Amino acid sequence: MNILVINCGSSSLKYQLIDMKEEKVLAKGLSERIGIEGSRIKHKTTGKDEVIIEKPMENHKVVLELVLNALVDSEYGAIKSMDEISAVGHRVVHGGEKFATSVKIDDEVMKALNDCVDLAPLHNPPNIMGIEACKELMPNTPMVGVFDTAFHQTMPKSNYIYPLPYELYEKYGVRKYGFHGTSHKYVSLKTAEILGKDIKDLKIITCHLGNGASVCAVENGKSIDTSMGFTPLEGLAMGTRTGDLDPAIIPFLMDKEKLTIEDVNNLLNKKSGVLGISGVSSDFRDLEEAAEKGNERAELALDVFVNRVKKYIGAYAVLMGGADAIVFTAGIGENSAEMREKICAGLENIGIEIDSEKNNIRGKEAVVSKDSSKVKILVVPTNEELMIARDTKELA
Ligand code: ADP
Repeated sequence: MNILVINCGSSSLKYQLIDMKEEKVLAKGLSERIGIEGSRIKHKTTGKDEVIIEKPMENHKVVLELVLNALVDSEYGAIKSMDEISAVGHRVVHGGEKFATSVKIDDEVMKALNDCVDLAPLHNPPNIMGIEACKELMPNTPMVGVFDTAFHQTMPKSNYIYPLPYELYEKYGVRKYGFHGTSHKYVSLKTAEILGKDIKDLKIITCHLGNGASVCAVENGKSIDTSMGFTPLEGLAMGTRTGDLDPAIIPFLMDKEKLTIEDVNNLLNKKSGVLGISGVSSDFRDLEEAAEKGNERAELALDVFVNRVKKYIGAYAVLMGGADAIVFTAGIGENSAEMREKICAGLENIGIEIDSEKNNIRGKEAVVSKDSSKVKILVVPTNEELMIARDTKELA
């Protein structure tokens, strides 16, 4: 059974075709600059050379048509015909309170997805466009929606209600939703597997540290709290996002700098985080290099990032009454030994002891804590596509 996994952004589309018998990637690719000049698809079938398809692509439907053609191409394709695609799994960013699990997509679900647009105006419309384009091109193939928010729907109300007038929750759904759920779920399950324990007996703190970054408290396999909130802006300091902030700063700056709502959203989401502090880059490789050469603001940006992760680890260990494991994943978590080391430094008195030698790895599964460490520290590369494919297989 082959599952096609689709992840649509506003001007990009990522895809993977996965053979579920051995959970093996048959082909994958990325389309960029959809709707703007210079659009192209980078397509790679496992075992064959990468090809670049350069054509005007005015919308997601045109891209999907080209992707499907690439998948069945006699030269660089992975399958003979589209009949070999049993189902399509779509990543959807926001499922609101309606979706606590993945769902098979029908008309009712499409309506509910459209109802969630208000909550994620940047993310959900391209996700919906991708589903609609797929439905047109493959009308008889079952489709499944997998939500970034779903895993966090187990949070207790005391962790997701903001201290705002309660009516605003009832009226607009203003509450914490949390994101990166597919990743937090995948790495927590993998951690239980690596440790040879039942996930129902574990308290795990998962740190998804990429361009967007969030920490999650996973107790007995369930998310009980996470650092992202109503939108993916809350929590850690990120590549270009502020994370937690005194809310009074926003009206203050709007007044001083005469900012519109659009300006302020842009400032908080695109110009802040480690980029804003350092003025150097949002990329941690650039920051680590600059800090090493003595750039003080780059070093400061890294320190702010590290301290926030530490604070969330502390908070979640307390919230769960302890932790059995801390897991690092995503671009920074998987690749930066330096960030992992700094985050864990000084936490020995709460049972977190990293082993510098074991930690000297990149992009592979490993336990990197000392044998004496009460809390196990792991690196687990995330695999959101596989998680989406597994849910899709089950539901389709
Ligand atoms: P997203 O999916 O949110 O765009 P990723 O999970 O791909 O993000 O992570 C991207 C981040 O990972 C970038 O900020 C990049 O700096 C960081 N990263 C990738 N490789 C390394 C590395 N070797 N050392 C430090 N940071 C790295």
